[in-house]
Amino acid sequence: MHELAVCQGLIGEVERVAALNGASEVTSVTVLIGPLSGVEIDLLQNAFPIARAGSVASEAELVVETGDIRVQCTGCGAQGPAAPNKLICSACGDWRVRVVSGDELLLKSVELSRAPASAN
Ligand SMILES: [Zn+2]
Repeated sequence: MHELAVCQGLIGEVERVAALNGASEVTSVTVLIGPLSGVEIDLLQNAFPIARAGSVASEAELVVETGDIRVQCTGCGAQGPAAPNKLICSACGDWRVRVVSGDELLLKSVELSRAPASAN
């Protein structure tokens, strides 16, 4: 299951961020998923509770943001939006385009909480 592996990778990153910041708990994890990333968001949401179990993010909610697709035309050089099933230049209609964004899968932000300091 691809999405579970993706989630486990995300939790690994989240744990690193939490450790760097001395956080005791992660409350929310926001990811940016491009329409061309090949990740099914429903499957990702289903896999997240499995991946987070036993980690610092065991109570965290998963927030998914979807990005836009943008392509750059190798013919006329224009950059513009495109649809997932129609990757063509919006200016001249050329199909020889390079994907600029839309295939990303990024950990965008992590909300942390710290245990109250006990010594003061
Ligand atoms: Zn063009």
